[in-house]
Formats: sequence, C-alpha cells, structure tokens
Amino acid sequence: MNIQAGASLQPQSIHVDRQSGMFEIAWDDMSGQIALTDMRKLCPCALCDDLREQQTQMSGLHMISETEMPSAVLKEVVAVGNYAVQLRWQDGHDTGIFPYSFLKELIGSSSD
Ligand SMILES: [Zn+2]
Repeated sequence: MNIQAGASLQPQSIHVDRQSGMFEIAWDDMSGQIALTDMRKLCPCALCDDLREQQTQMSGLHMISETEMPSAVLKEVVAVGNYAVQLRWQDGHDTGIFPYSFLKELIGSSSD
C-alpha cells in the first residue's frame, strides 16, 4: 500500500463559524461545511466509538442523539501534523482526531 503524505490533503483554510455552528474547510479542489453537531456525532475517537456502539445495541441504528450528546460547542481546532485536525470541545472532550482525508470524504459524500 502506498500512503502519500499528500500535500493535496492539506486544506487551504479552516474556519469555524460559531454563530451558525458550522465547520468550514477549503482545499484547492473542493470546499464545504459540516455542522459542528455532526462532527461531534461522528467523532472518530475510541470513546465515542464505544458510545455509538452501545447506543446501536440499545436502540438500533442511530448516531449519538442530541440529548445524549454532551457538547457541540467547539473551543479550539488544533492542527495535527499535516494530516489531521484535533477538535477540542467545550466539555473538555479532545480525543477526536479528524484526518483531512476523512473530512474530504464527508464533504464529498454530502454534496452529491
Ligand atoms: Zn470522541
């Protein structure tokens, strides 16, 4: 397998609009936005993975629901190397690392 340290995956800009609750990201060939609530629900860390699994077992398919979701208020976005961003939420949750490839997929699949 050939994993490229792809410069093309590095976004040109990232902007968080706290008022509308949107995470905006732009690459040279693509751009889009993701709701912060969705990002929290999709948080790829092990903790949230477990949470989603428990909830799936309890009540069939659903993502972390609004009421069960602790916080979708974003405190800080931190770049991780040149491949990902770490999102730090208001409630102290900061283990979610979102690779740029994942974000690109998310935006690509939602703009069909
Ligand atoms: Zn998480």
